Amino acid sequence: MKKIAVFLFTSVALQNIAAQNLIQAYKDRADMVTQANISNNLQEFSNLGVKTTGSTANTDALNWLKNKYLSYGYSSSQMVEDPFSFGSTNSKNLVITKTGTLYPDKYIIICGHYDTIVGPGVSDNGSGTSILLEAARILKDIPTEYSIKFVHFSGEEQGLIGSNHYVNNVAYQGNTRKLDIKLVFNIDQVGGQIGNLNNKITCERDTGGISSNNAASNTATQELAVCTGLYSPLQTSISYAYSSDYIPFEEKGYTITGFYEYIKSENEHSTDDNLTNIDPVYVFNVGKAAVGALQHFAVASTSNNNNLQVNETPAKDPLQNIRIYPNPAKDMITVETEKSKQFSIEINDMAGHLVLSSENQNRINTSALQNGVYTITIKTSAGNLTRKIIIEK
Ligand SMILES: [Zn+2]
Repeated sequence: MKKIAVFLFTSVALQNIAAQNLIQAYKDRADMVTQANISNNLQEFSNLGVKTTGSTANTDALNWLKNKYLSYGYSSSQMVEDPFSFGSTNSKNLVITKTGTLYPDKYIIICGHYDTIVGPGVSDNGSGTSILLEAARILKDIPTEYSIKFVHFSGEEQGLIGSNHYVNNVAYQGNTRKLDIKLVFNIDQVGGQIGNLNNKITCERDTGGISSNNAASNTATQELAVCTGLYSPLQTSISYAYSSDYIPFEEKGYTITGFYEYIKSENEHSTDDNLTNIDPVYVFNVGKAAVGALQHFAVASTSNNNNLQVNETPAKDPLQNIRIYPNPAKDMITVETEKSKQFSIEINDMAGHLVLSSENQNRINTSALQNGVYTITIKTSAGNLTRKIIIEK
């Protein structure tokens, strides 16, 4: 629902980002986004008509989304509707959860609205919707350390009503934070205009509202830009976040980032936001960038899956079931090793100095450690697993 002119921040320094290298498995999965699927999703979204919040077409779009997820192999129990109302209007957000292997209670939210206004909204926001679907299809059987929620909001065009409802009834209940969300990654209006040179995407960071979450958003947005360069042919521009579904999250202090088209089509909220005017190749390229970045943020498995087919499950990593928690930790860390009875644990500081070691102990007393970032290595007969941990007292 963006209406304000965008002023771009130029030459944001990327060099101070920790080296973020291409991961071949991530690239292979980003390349599993197909132009045919993107175009087909856009066509079907267009065919649903004007999906005004609360309309029959809006409900039809919700059902279309649910059927898509079922067709990718997600179960009904992974899909939760979040109904909301305003005045006499009723609509629903749709939330699909894929559980993480290491941090099942910490979420990466990838979101975009599916309601439209005046026109079929093929760019605003059939584009983001189509990309979420491709990401969900491709990552269905890929283990990720963090849980992922694919969230399709409604009521966006009436003023972020669906996302506001979700944040204030699901993510938060009163002043109680219910959902531990690592990052909200919003995709809204990335359709471009056919005929334009659509070779760049705007990566949006949080520069306003609550200020305590701005630095984390800046970091995530720069990582988003790096991923875009690694996993898609697109160039990037960093700008600021405004007027879309990440804002209610920002207002609660969560970390946000987003994609938005760089050269504006100016077709939004009109009958011109249609299949004829959109640039489907641009959506395809943004889709690759999004699948690359989502794997980075959710820490997807890096084992190669070239031969992974829809009905095959990936080879199980013997270290995958090791859980280390809490993280951040205070005086105690628990290490769950499902299989291994014989194991040793080493904790090193970031300079590489060994600060703690133990053998066959699942509970590690960390009360002597100062606040800071460390690495913990669990050594088993099946191999070694190293994770970053934070001590925060
Ligand atoms: Zn929009």
